[in-house]
Amino acid sequence: MIFRQIETSFIETLQNLYDREEALQIARYAIEHVTGLDKAMMLAKRDDKASEAHSGRLFNVLGQLKTGRPLQYIIGEADFYGLKFKVTEAVLIPRPETEELVAWIADEIQEFPGFAERKIKVLDIGTGSGCIPVSLKSVGPQLEISAIDISEAALEIAKKNADINNVNVDFFESDILNPDSFIAQPYTLIVSNPPYITDSEKSSMHHNVLQFEPSTALFVPDDDPLLFYRAIADFAFINLETNGRLFFEINEHFGKEVSDMLSQKGFKDVVLRKDINGKDRMIKASRL
Ligand code: GLN
Repeated sequence: MIFRQIETSFIETLQNLYDREEALQIARYAIEHVTGLDKAMMLAKRDDKASEAHSGRLFNVLGQLKTGRPLQYIIGEADFYGLKFKVTEAVLIPRPETEELVAWIADEIQEFPGFAERKIKVLDIGTGSGCIPVSLKSVGPQLEISAIDISEAALEIAKKNADINNVNVDFFESDILNPDSFIAQPYTLIVSNPPYITDSEKSSMHHNVLQFEPSTALFVPDDDPLLFYRAIADFAFINLETNGRLFFEINEHFGKEVSDMLSQKGFKDVVLRKDINGKDRMIKASRL
């Protein structure tokens, strides 16, 4: 079978789960992964015949995709901020919204007074796959990055991702709702993409997210959607250096609530930013 026909099989088989364009992207990513070809080479070879081994592997992937299992978990890998990350069901698949957050932070850090000369200490809270600290490390060698997560299984993956990408990040197991004293240190920047989907929003979510991704990384109780934001804000108010910054990824429905909470707690210059889909998605605040 030629690669172009394999793409068509993916689109037809997955039509109840993904629209045509998504299914085509999934097919192409799977072909790149299985053949080891880069995108340009893979597109140039679409009319070539796939080897038995490659088509066998691709139809095995397709069989798993049909159950709703996300491609990244099937192949064990996800792209984020131009880097490769190992992923398992113990961690959330890194999202494009979070790439936007990293890009925003990278821009801001470079504007810090004395950026090139000074040490910049960063803490990521609820790191999951480690995608935020590992990708932030490319901003500059003077970044000293620590990251915490409540999940030991997630931290194992995050450590592998730091190794794969040749960066040094200090990972610790800790729960921000009950933080260990050793993480209470002065930081220049604190970032978090905590769980923020309310239980009542579950019903509108894709089955492949609900069934396969870790619920502890996603959900918060309906009666306290800002649970993690308040705890992180309190921690950050004490542990950020003068002029330090706090960055959050947020639920699009709670932009105002999170901004107001930060202002009430004494943070200044609270800025709400939309993602590429025009949804309130990120917040920064300063500790003056
Ligand atoms: N953006 C993720 C999603 O839509 C949620 C991430 C989170 O809860 N922190 O599934």
